Amino acid sequence: MSTEIKGLNEECGIFGIWNHPSAAQITYYGLHSLQHRGQEGAGIVSTDGVTLKGHRNLGLLADVFKHGELDDLVGKSAIGHVRYATAGGKSLSNVQPFLFHFQNSSLALAHNGNLINAKTLRNELEEEGAIFQTSSDTEVLAHLLKRSRTGSLLEDLKVALNQVKGGFAYMLLTENELIAALDPNGFRPLSIGKIGDAYVVASETCAFDTVGAEFVRDVEPGELIIINDEGLHIEKFTADVTHSICSMEYVYFARPDSNIAGINVHSARKRMGKRLAQEAFIEADVVTGVPDSSISAAIGYAEETGIPYELGLIKNRYVARTFIQPSQELREQGVKMKLSAVRGVVEGKRVVMIDDSIVRGTTSRRIVQLLREAGAAEVHVRIASPPLAFPCFYGIDIQTRNELIAANYSVDEICHIIGADSLTYLSEDGLVEAVGRPYPNEPYGGLCMAYFNGDYPTELFDYEQEYLASLEAKSR
Ligand code: SF4
Repeated sequence: MSTEIKGLNEECGIFGIWNHPSAAQITYYGLHSLQHRGQEGAGIVSTDGVTLKGHRNLGLLADVFKHGELDDLVGKSAIGHVRYATAGGKSLSNVQPFLFHFQNSSLALAHNGNLINAKTLRNELEEEGAIFQTSSDTEVLAHLLKRSRTGSLLEDLKVALNQVKGGFAYMLLTENELIAALDPNGFRPLSIGKIGDAYVVASETCAFDTVGAEFVRDVEPGELIIINDEGLHIEKFTADVTHSICSMEYVYFARPDSNIAGINVHSARKRMGKRLAQEAFIEADVVTGVPDSSISAAIGYAEETGIPYELGLIKNRYVARTFIQPSQELREQGVKMKLSAVRGVVEGKRVVMIDDSIVRGTTSRRIVQLLREAGAAEVHVRIASPPLAFPCFYGIDIQTRNELIAANYSVDEICHIIGADSLTYLSEDGLVEAVGRPYPNEPYGGLCMAYFNGDYPTELFDYEQEYLASLEAKSR
């Protein structure tokens, strides 16, 4: 298991459109608004109804398509992907969408999420003679499709989707249809929109605003969305479903202007801040948030307490994200380059610093230090989510407890490690209530809370042994 220093990174954004004369261009703009979900690679595949054509490369979307590559992607339908590598390495062969050519047809495939039985399925398929071209678990679905032979893509897909387990939002494109599928827990968001006669599907609704699409509905767990020249129709590949929407989408991953299950992400974060203020009030002079994802919660905290919200920390937008830097030392320098404390705001003040989460503690320690160096008299850290104490196996890149500071230290110890005057986290109930229980009759109101409490909504399959071993290692 990797002990490499990494941040908290989500995996991937997907976007697709059917029946629009500028399909590839719209996909480009849709993906652009999903770039926060992955910056390591990007690709688009389009179809003119006869062939599928694609372009993909490592890097940001604007770099991947900077030499006019979009112009070659003709046709009225397309799918695209922005990638953060969780399963599989950082090589070009793992950048999606993948394009497969079968005897009489072609298929493009894009995936957001992480399979928890990919290793087992891959071994089985290899024993049967399958040859994998990538180390990504996305390719497993294509091999399962090839193996299943009902003669209908849709039926083959239903069989295959019942074999893969974990978190997945898939998008598939053939010469004559676009298909989207969401896992039986609906871990990752996926929504349908419409521009005139064209349907679009995207990881987040913020992409609809960018391309001028109207929201139609969310894709529900266990659903298959089939879009072709006859319109849109919906089937189910399983009826055994529950909502376990990743709560970290609300806390950190999604853009504040997106809605998930009808709940606006900024408003949910603001409520997290308000609830945090009720649970963990402290006398102070200013409230500040760590840009960008904690600003909404900081506004909520300030509104609830009456302590003024100030821009105590500024982000330099032109520095690449810190996770590409390999060592802790470089990572800390990266944080310094990326954020600055505003002396004029914090000097001599008691500061409440709101952050959305603490992963390893490295970044928090550096930010507290920045505030102190800028003259803050006191720094009180308030975290707008509960302690991250368990690994995620459904599409976030932390899969070992050793990597999480809250799995190894008490809140008091973490407070000491990050050098704060006080530290409090939001409670689990506080988070669930702040999001607003989109599915009130389901566990945690339809949220996955496993990161915080280890209550995984599925079996862990390939990860069970690793998970148990990490628990044992901690208790020794
Ligand atoms: S374990 Fe955490 S990060 Fe993973 S899906 Fe559940 S809430 Fe999201």
